[in-house]
Amino acid sequence: MSDKIIDGKLISSEIREKVKKFGGQLKSKTGKVPGLAVVLVGENPASRVYVKNKIEKTIEVGFTSIEHKLNEKVSENELIDLVDKLNNDKNVQGILVQLPLPKHVDSDKILDRIKPEKDVDGFHANNVGKLWSGLDSLVPCTPLGCSIILKKISKDLSGKHVVIIGRSNIVGKPMAALLLGMNATVTICHSRTKDLESVCKTADIIVAAVGIPEMVKSYWIREDAIIIDVGINRVERDEKKILVGDVDYNDCLKKCSLITPVPGGVGPMTIACLLLNTLLASYPQFGEPTPDLSSILE
Ligand code: NAD
Repeated sequence: MSDKIIDGKLISSEIREKVKKFGGQLKSKTGKVPGLAVVLVGENPASRVYVKNKIEKTIEVGFTSIEHKLNEKVSENELIDLVDKLNNDKNVQGILVQLPLPKHVDSDKILDRIKPEKDVDGFHANNVGKLWSGLDSLVPCTPLGCSIILKKISKDLSGKHVVIIGRSNIVGKPMAALLLGMNATVTICHSRTKDLESVCKTADIIVAAVGIPEMVKSYWIREDAIIIDVGINRVERDEKKILVGDVDYNDCLKKCSLITPVPGGVGPMTIACLLLNTLLASYPQFGEPTPDLSSILE
């Protein structure tokens, strides 16, 4: 593997090992095991694959996995009742409602119903507000994973210019909040940004979270830029279905200093960070002080 390629599989497996170790210590101290509840509605094939992986990895780190698979036609009130039940269940420390939900359900209403202390996806308005205020909170898993990668490869981001492409609540916006907290100078670009190419040329680091296959080209980036590719796009090549990112990987690999591949870059970090969040959520619920994230990851 080229030394320019950031091995997300390796970093994520190290995180899962640490989560397992700290979870084991928490169990020895309290006699309690963290529980992660996953709610899946309908038959979306991509969601089913994600949920299957999440369940497997939850069990691997020694946590309890609680699954609720519901019919596509479930009503909003039934979902709210389920979230309330999980909120009050002492065996559940983290709740994840897999998105997207069917159109007849108001996703924001469901996500905001989850108790903020069990909101391991970090999407509840309380957690979003805390993140932007620089307070400890549960942070959305994908940007948390990107920030852990960046800390690992570039200890100090002070003065670095990071261009984020994408302003979603799931990736782009929380990524910006995390990077500001790491003293980076942050530019957020989106579908209405003019001359994205010129903005990208000013970046020390690019985080691409757009959903457009291979959009970022080598002539957009500075020599030695660091590229974090969040995109996961299914495309057809030579009659085969493959996954590609939002960055033209083969093209940019020549010019950048470091890059996350797709698959095997940011993707595996998301599940590892979900387990990390479940661990972090469990300490206060078990009456224990929460260790610093850095002391878990060191
Ligand atoms: P989204 O559709 O919610 O947001 C996409 C963002 O891209 C929007 O803010 C939009 O303004 C911006 N955008 C669209 N077209 C653009 C253009 N031409 N130029 C500049 N900006 C443009 O998507 P999302 O949920 O943030 O996900 C983004 C990508 O990341 C997708 O490929 C998704 O599959 C992937 N993703 C990966 C993980 C992971 O675990 N690796 C997790 C979440 C999302």
